[in-house]
Amino acid sequence: MYWIVRVLLLGLLVILSGCDKGPQDQRQTLLVFGTLLDIQAYTDQPELFNEAVRELDKTFQKMHREWHAWQGEGELVRLNRALADGEALQVSAELGSLLQQARQYAIDSEHLFNPAIGQLIGLWGFHSDQPPGGPPPRKVEIEALLKHNPSMEDVSFQGHLVSSTNSMVAMDLGAFAKGYALNLAIDELKRMGIENAIVNAGGDLCVSGQHGERPWVIGIRHPLGEGVIASVGVADGECVLTSGNYERYREFEGVRYAHIIDPRSGYPVAHVASATVISTQGGLADAAATALSVAGPVDWPRIAAKMGLTQVMLVDDQGKVYLTPQMQSRISFQQQVDEVVVTVD
Ligand code: ADP
Ligand code: MG
Repeated sequence: MYWIVRVLLLGLLVILSGCDKGPQDQRQTLLVFGTLLDIQAYTDQPELFNEAVRELDKTFQKMHREWHAWQGEGELVRLNRALADGEALQVSAELGSLLQQARQYAIDSEHLFNPAIGQLIGLWGFHSDQPPGGPPPRKVEIEALLKHNPSMEDVSFQGHLVSSTNSMVAMDLGAFAKGYALNLAIDELKRMGIENAIVNAGGDLCVSGQHGERPWVIGIRHPLGEGVIASVGVADGECVLTSGNYERYREFEGVRYAHIIDPRSGYPVAHVASATVISTQGGLADAAATALSVAGPVDWPRIAAKMGLTQVMLVDDQGKVYLTPQMQSRISFQQQVDEVVVTVD
């Protein structure tokens, strides 16, 4: 009898000490999409978290393989080959829906987000893990591609059968797939029982739940200087995506050529240092951040309105900051900013 009481007591103690610990920060890093994916959760179930991260790793490796624009034999590479040959290809439901969303965002952004310009991106040397040195492509080469005007409106879908009327269309999801995938990751974590998490790929992130009693708070990197330009509380289900010209670029004779290309001119964006978008749809936010970088300091409010966005921050190459009123009301600057322009509602 005595030992039964002791065992019961001990069991109770173990349970109580487990409860005492409460939720804690759990963190793991994966290497996917060529960047580090940082997964953080506030949970009292570390084992479940570890298992969920292992599942996510598999999902992300598969997406990386299938949606890569120029490497391997994934679905997108095969689709691009078929379209170049004037043939249609049956794709998976997932890629089909991804491409249909991309098509809609391209149309909404007046094709400033144009994932059909894979050939142009390749010509600029951004279809390699390490962008090349050396001179930029020649104007005639750029113009030769531009005159075919590849666009998502050339692409049509019959179910998941994808075809194009323009053999110069080559799809590149580099401006869109990351946001879409971050959204999926948050959904998958939720499905596995991890309710309070941040999934962060180099500053692009989606969030679920809260960090205990308070919302998750994140920093937006300064595109021109050091550290964080502003912090913002992110609500359950929201994503924060930034396109910047500081991450990937090539350089020749002191001139930097960023990896975001203006599909109208064929040349890299020059006057926007970064565009940040907050939305519950990661793919939309990612596509939009790219489109608004291309739109530039004058035209971005029109494109943001067309894409249905209310929360945007743009930083131009001089450090001037442009905000929507909704963005202004929720961010806190962490550094001196000389000039801030807020659009009217
Ligand atoms: P980041 O990778 O810094 O988040 P983006 O989301 O803007 O930046 O993605 C840039 C990538 O998108 C480029 O490397 C290229 O593959 C592709 N891209 C470049 N310009 C465009 C554009 N105007 N529309 C669609 N995709 C683009
Ligand atoms: Mg983008």
